[in-house]
Amino acid sequence: MIDRVRGRIHERSILFRDVLAAFSLCDALMLGGYWVVFEFLGKFSLGHHCVLCASLGNEDRICSRCVDVLPWNHCHCERCGQPVVADQPLGVFCADCQSSPPLFDRARSPLRYAFPVDTALKALKFKRQLMYAPAFATILVPTLHEIFPHVDALVPVPLHRLRHATRGFNQAIEISRELASHTGLPINHQTRRVRRTTTQSGLSASKRRKNLRQAFAVNGALDAKYPLIIDDVITTGATCDYLAAALLAAGAKSVDVLTVARASIKLLR
Ligand SMILES: [Zn+2]
Ligand SMILES: [Zn+2]
Repeated sequence: MIDRVRGRIHERSILFRDVLAAFSLCDALMLGGYWVVFEFLGKFSLGHHCVLCASLGNEDRICSRCVDVLPWNHCHCERCGQPVVADQPLGVFCADCQSSPPLFDRARSPLRYAFPVDTALKALKFKRQLMYAPAFATILVPTLHEIFPHVDALVPVPLHRLRHATRGFNQAIEISRELASHTGLPINHQTRRVRRTTTQSGLSASKRRKNLRQAFAVNGALDAKYPLIIDDVITTGATCDYLAAALLAAGAKSVDVLTVARASIKLLR
């Protein structure tokens, strides 16, 4: 099953290229009715494909067979959400949270950053495979309703404007859009990344913290009291911690975090 999913993630981009090529052909021939054609293809060719294995006939964007083999983050710290080896007693948090409590109240990531989630999220971020954003956002909806019923706004982690311009999109905003459509929550765009930080990938935990110091700012008083930070993956929690600090300073009463996946901090040490 894993090999099948691995192969399909690559085949999936070919499928999209074929559809886009067909759309370009229609454009060139000036047949008109582009949206009709595109929606037809979307409904009958893409809409029923699982984004991970491309199997046909699925109503959901990730089919039930793939859902069964996803690396779920069932056993995690109740505070920061990082995977732990055994369930913790109520009110007892992981060693990291005990030694250095985060500024956000709680972070949750339904999935661990392992195959096929890591491959799909890299494809979303670095290969512009945007179909993964709504697919994984759907997986976040039950967690949002269950753990964070009190939140009043979604705050996608902002990219620096130069990185945003280079990439052309922000994966956190793409995920937030789908969450907003499911929940009716507004997306808050008051946050900015004011300092251009080097990419976090490959940095140790301590270097990540240094890299992010004073990286975020909020425009004016925050329009939300209980914002929920949204991102694709959380690793050390440093990004969310610094963003939470900026949100709290701008008037938030509490800040929570929801990401698709949680990477293991242990791998960075
Ligand atoms: Zn599937
Ligand atoms: Zn913890």
